Amino acid sequence: VQTVYTFGGSADHSDERQKDKTVTGGKGANLAEMASIGLPVPPGFTITTEECVKYLQEGAEFGEELRAQVAGALKHIEATVGKSFGDASDPLLVSVRSGARVSMPGMMDTVLNLGLNDDTVAGLASASGDARFAWDSYRRFIQMYADVVLGLDHGLFEEALEIAKDEKGLYADTEMEARDWKELVAEYKTIAEKELGHPFPQDVTEQLWGAIQAVFDSWDSDRAKVYRRLNDIPAHWGTAVNVQAMVFGNMGATSATGVAFTRDPATGERAYYGEYLINAQGEDVVAGIRTPQYLTKAAREKANAKPLSMEEAMPEAYGELARVFDLLEHHYKDMQDIEFTVQQGTLWMLQTRSGKRTAKAALKMAVDMVGEGLIDEKTAILRVDPMALDQLLHPTLDPKAHRDILGTGLPASPGAASGKIVLDADTAEQWSGRGEKVILVRVETSPEDIHGMHAAQGILTARGGMTSHAAVVARGMGRPCVSGASTVSIDRASKTLRIGNRELKEGDTITIDGANGQIMAGEVRTIEPELAGDFGVLMEWADKHRRMRVRTNAETPADCKMARQFGAEGIGLCRTEHMFFDASRIRAVRQMILAEDEKTRRAALDKLLPEQRADFKAIFEVMVGLPCTIRLLDPPLHEFLPHEDADFADLADATGLGVDHLKRRAGELHEFNPMLGHRGCRLGITFPEIYEMQARAIFEAACEVAKTSGEAPIPEVMIPLIATKRELEILKALVDKAAAEVFAAQGIAVDYLVGTMIELPRAALMAGEIAEEGAFFSFGTNDLTQTTLGVSRDDSARFLAPYVEKGIFPRDPFVSLDIEGVGQLVELAAERGRATRPDIKLGICGEHGGDPASIAFYESVGLDYVSASPYRVPIARLAAAQSSL
Ligand code: PEP
Ligand code: MG
Repeated sequence: VQTVYTFGGSADHSDERQKDKTVTGGKGANLAEMASIGLPVPPGFTITTEECVKYLQEGAEFGEELRAQVAGALKHIEATVGKSFGDASDPLLVSVRSGARVSMPGMMDTVLNLGLNDDTVAGLASASGDARFAWDSYRRFIQMYADVVLGLDHGLFEEALEIAKDEKGLYADTEMEARDWKELVAEYKTIAEKELGHPFPQDVTEQLWGAIQAVFDSWDSDRAKVYRRLNDIPAHWGTAVNVQAMVFGNMGATSATGVAFTRDPATGERAYYGEYLINAQGEDVVAGIRTPQYLTKAAREKANAKPLSMEEAMPEAYGELARVFDLLEHHYKDMQDIEFTVQQGTLWMLQTRSGKRTAKAALKMAVDMVGEGLIDEKTAILRVDPMALDQLLHPTLDPKAHRDILGTGLPASPGAASGKIVLDADTAEQWSGRGEKVILVRVETSPEDIHGMHAAQGILTARGGMTSHAAVVARGMGRPCVSGASTVSIDRASKTLRIGNRELKEGDTITIDGANGQIMAGEVRTIEPELAGDFGVLMEWADKHRRMRVRTNAETPADCKMARQFGAEGIGLCRTEHMFFDASRIRAVRQMILAEDEKTRRAALDKLLPEQRADFKAIFEVMVGLPCTIRLLDPPLHEFLPHEDADFADLADATGLGVDHLKRRAGELHEFNPMLGHRGCRLGITFPEIYEMQARAIFEAACEVAKTSGEAPIPEVMIPLIATKRELEILKALVDKAAAEVFAAQGIAVDYLVGTMIELPRAALMAGEIAEEGAFFSFGTNDLTQTTLGVSRDDSARFLAPYVEKGIFPRDPFVSLDIEGVGQLVELAAERGRATRPDIKLGICGEHGGDPASIAFYESVGLDYVSASPYRVPIARLAAAQSSL
């Protein structure tokens, strides 16, 4: 098969393989594409990725067949340019560059000016009429080739250059004359020979193969391996090699080189954006030695810069470039990121690809391009990365502001926040009550900290993963959170903390960035989110094209309102325990739990009933007409127990029971493994009065709202942590009984459902039977992941990072569903549930409900809805639309 493809000049670009990135790499495929639509591309050829894979597998040998194909392709370049490789009077020079399927910036190798030696340098000097240019090119070549191909320390060459300049009293490279470069070349060759034990290679064919080999080898360099691992790029892809006739941007004042975007990648505005340098070679623009100049006059004027823009300095080449920009956008139907060179007034294109962009720019471009007729709505929906929307929904740190970074943790909940350090929830509430901004810093948070979390601008914890209590609650509240920052150590007694080697105290100001996990000293400026029109437009298109519904995980009226603004179509999970931990109610809750007989327990529950009813009523009022899944009490009893002496004393006062008695009772309820202990439906089975009270509160609230607003919410009462059909049977009967009693008393009935969470492997396996009792399933993938993997969701942060680094898990399974494993249980339970009850409602309310990669999977198994925390709702809407296209 053909494994070398030529492009440019009269090359035939009709073979589809040549435009396939998997074969010729991104750069090679796009060079062929550009050449085939008539854009000015210097002629060249691409050696396919298949050759790289073969070379790496078969132990570094090049076959005769490949050598013959390369020789033929080189002739194509020579014929097109009208110069010969190695010709001492007017040599062809080439560049040799890597080009994998996806761009891996700076990871692999490039050699420029290849084909220069002691003979051809003279030819280049006479043919170009510029000896300085020729000798400068030769020294650049030796330096690059020695580094990339021969593996010599580039520091040796840089040092020699510095010494040469020093001796001559020169400061900048541009001050070096032809003679100076020539002397330096001699010096470079001496260095190379000394290091290598033989002279620097003069045979141009040997140079070419050396460079090809180096590009292939660079696929397996350490830095490329790290990059592949971080970006999920498989090792078996390999890289292609592109050999291309050199064009020179460093041939005087009519030459230049630059990089450009066809639209502004930061704002999405339809304005050319880029930089160029007159009389320079490619690396000079990115190397930062000279300050590049603006492309357009408008950009230059806006920045108040002096050096002329390309539009002003080279109007003709600029005009040609602008024409190429438009052709490229119409051809690729996307914003392009390009590299170009102008050689003595003539424009050449060296690369094009779809450009990276900010979320804001992605939205604007997608919407604008539909308006321009360039793409359709579906394409626009697919253009925007749902996760990138996160950037838009929260205040973010001003990228221009200085950051004094103290440490990093997990990016648990996006957004940025600054405030004074407080070390407990009560202080957070007090300080915020007097108008101060605070960041709550805890080893880890517990449900008792809710009020403090709510009062704080942001939350920082030393322990806990992405689904730790702090992370889940913070995302739900839309509070920025950095969790599992293991370099944070807190000393509650002295009210101080250390972050790394820095000492801080309560009251000091810090800033956290929940988008990347950074913790910074002092206040860093933020910018407010701007939900501009484009956001709304794209969301409308997404809603039109998605099948799955999107609900929210929320338990306060404020969060429900916010979620509705973000487009939520119901509540998928209302965690009622958050209402129990409220500071004003915890006493009654504790009293109920520590009660030793039903009578005392009922007395405590009677106090809670009106409060719960009020909670539900407030939520239902926001959600009239929409389904609201209310989950009955779930957390381990253990978590409600008092810890501090003061709590016991307080409780003793309230109940009239002795402190010793209460402590003994608390001791009895202590658990070693609360997550697998007395929680979920086990509470309802052992203390049915609790679920009875909750069910009553739900139905009474629903009836009241139905009476006042004329329209009822649709309660879906959800029983957590079911493992058997019998559990659900017992508890469903209890809920139905409460409903019947309330409806009879109120003289009005509302529609409702009783269903269950599927969060234990046994429940998934027995789903067929469980569906006989449950009208809906909601997958609790947090617990299902924890119980299927046998990995504690609260303790995993300590060891999951190395697990992901070593490729044991592709991603944190508490963030992105383990589709291979846990996904099987979801699929199987969905099938078995539907077999029993064809109209069973299926949803997901674990944290994975808002993860785009997991959402594609839910679409494939046909779930009816996903539920996500309010700020994730737009992300889920977009991801659901993408997954159904
Ligand atoms: C779950 O387990 O996925 C779930 C949604 O419940 P919780 O996170 O409250 O345990
Ligand atoms: Mg759960």
